[in-house]
Amino acid sequence: MIILLKENANLKQVENLKKFLTSRGFGLHESVGEQHTIIGLVGDTSKLDIDLISSLDVVEAVRRIQEPYKNANRKFHAADTVVDVGGAKIGGGHFMMIAGPCSVENHDQILSVARDVKKSGANMLRGGAFKPRTSPYAFQGLHEKGIELLLEAKRETGLPIITEIMDINHLPLFEDVDVIQVGARNMQNFELLKELGQTRKPILLKRGLANTIQELLMSAEYIMAGGNENVILCERGIRTFETATRNTLDISAVPVLHKLTHLPVVVDPSHGTGVNELVHPMALAAVAAGADGLIIEVHNDPVHALCDGKQSLTPEQFDALASAIRSILPFAAKEQHWA
Ligand code: PEP
Ligand code: MN
Repeated sequence: MIILLKENANLKQVENLKKFLTSRGFGLHESVGEQHTIIGLVGDTSKLDIDLISSLDVVEAVRRIQEPYKNANRKFHAADTVVDVGGAKIGGGHFMMIAGPCSVENHDQILSVARDVKKSGANMLRGGAFKPRTSPYAFQGLHEKGIELLLEAKRETGLPIITEIMDINHLPLFEDVDVIQVGARNMQNFELLKELGQTRKPILLKRGLANTIQELLMSAEYIMAGGNENVILCERGIRTFETATRNTLDISAVPVLHKLTHLPVVVDPSHGTGVNELVHPMALAAVAAGADGLIIEVHNDPVHALCDGKQSLTPEQFDALASAIRSILPFAAKEQHWA
């Protein structure tokens, strides 16, 4: 971190600032110019309040040189993290295909979709049991019963399961769930993230609707700071001025994240576009950009789906997508193997 002092800064106040910084364990490199003095800080500045330093009378500007996230940072962990989900792996060249309905609706629906996506090569089954809906009158999910049905589908097909948590008090219900999803709306629910950091369950963390890549990484840091390193990041589109799609899928987030972090990156073109026919091309784009996995909404009867039917693929469409992905995977920006 670099602190630029104001011209004619009060010397006593500068001394106080320097004392404060050394008392926090930082080494100081001072460079005195004709008009300005610059103090370079040596040490871990991730816990230093940049706003507090900036607000001091003697300070003109503060600039971070190092990112404020440590655990998620590729600089301190060069090798890709591989998250192992009951034998199915993601990251470090292991490609993961997650598929299933937006919401678990009933026994026959989830079982039928689970069998179909497994046949097409999916490695994990998705399905919401607790649904974050914009309207309180919309279908809210089957809750505990939804998780029971997912577990039944897991027993029959052998597919690990992923489902979203909205309230930390529900954690005991997730004991046999393989991956816990933190949805876009909860990306900055810091208390939830801290509690999930105390578990050792893999967490799929979705990017918030209006959050930057750095904010996504800071949220991952919350989970990792608690000791849980099993974090998978998910780009699912952000809100922009564009209205032709539900969100604007930020494909460039994939290579950007790969540069900044060692954590695996999944792309969700279903929520990213909101439109059935856009899912296929954007899924291919994500894989070409080097995504470590995809999460795709698939429904046996999209027209009658209780949630997100418009963006859900039929099992046949999913099968065609899976074949297309297999054929382009060897040309992806990152070497990937899909088991
Ligand atoms: C979901 O995956 O079911 C979901 C609600 O997604 P998001 O949090 O990205 O909106
Ligand atoms: Mn959905």
